[in-house]
Amino acid sequence: MQFLKNRHIFGVIGNPINHSLSPIIHNFLFSSFGICANYQKALVEHQDKLYSTLQTFQGANITLPYKEDVYRLCDEVVGIAREIGAVNTIIWDNERLLGFNTDALGFWECIKNLKINNALILGAGGSAKAIAFILKQNKIRTIIYNRSQKKLDFFRNLGFETTIQVPNQKFDLVINATSAGLQDFSLPLDKIFLQKLFHQALYVFDVVYPSKEEIQNIDDLKKFLKQRPLTPFCALAQDMKVDFEDGLNMLLYQAFFAFEIFCKNQYLFKDLRALFYN
Ligand code: NDP
Repeated sequence: MQFLKNRHIFGVIGNPINHSLSPIIHNFLFSSFGICANYQKALVEHQDKLYSTLQTFQGANITLPYKEDVYRLCDEVVGIAREIGAVNTIIWDNERLLGFNTDALGFWECIKNLKINNALILGAGGSAKAIAFILKQNKIRTIIYNRSQKKLDFFRNLGFETTIQVPNQKFDLVINATSAGLQDFSLPLDKIFLQKLFHQALYVFDVVYPSKEEIQNIDDLKKFLKQRPLTPFCALAQDMKVDFEDGLNMLLYQAFFAFEIFCKNQYLFKDLRALFYN
């Protein structure tokens, strides 16, 4: 298959893709640094169009449901993405497809300054994998809970502690890595179990972030960063006076790490962050 040298076009690939904030983030970064590049959304409805769509971009982000498919399509997978088995960022390098995972780094950037010895992850999907591996890499003892067994097998086979019963012990960090609260007000566990876990926790982290249809441009996004509604998981943490964070900073940070890959590390993470938070 012929490689298309469409050198200044980047994008995000997924299904659905309409809700993605990545074009706003990356186009703002490109224009802030005077880079002549454009970042677009690409809806891929069938997996058989995945590779040809990847070929239309110089670099791209990958979202649901294709992170594992793209992992398999890469000529080389770099860093923690190899362990996770999922790729959320690609670049072409001399017609070789290189894959990375910046979700794990984005999560770690959010919590790296906390004093944490152990963590409980609720959920066993793609985001749970990224979080579990980065916590393991940083020597934080982690247990993965899921409401059903199937997805836990991946973790168990790699030596992680897993459970389908809510653990009756204290965790410094409790993480919601399920989709509960994404499109409704549901919690990933019965409230009574969560209250018990939160009561003993130092910090609560929700990978879910509140969405707002009206975010159309960078000014809307910056306003939303300063003031946004609470996810159900974070609202419960606030009620119980436990420190918490939703997944919006993680989303931005994974985008900054992806941007560094797109631009071959020409820019510093702290400078990218300052563009959004100052
Ligand atoms: P997956 O579909 O891979 O996994 C979803 C997991 O959530 C499964 O373990 C599933 O359990 C569990 N689950 C789903 N609904 C419920 C529920 N109502 N109650 C309890 N458990 C539930 O999803 P991802 O891991 O890719 O994504 C999870 C969330 O993380 C999404 O909301 C996504 O938007 C968000 N995300 C945020 C990122 C960020 O940067 N902030 C990055 C990546 C993802 P089962 O196996 O039993 O079905």
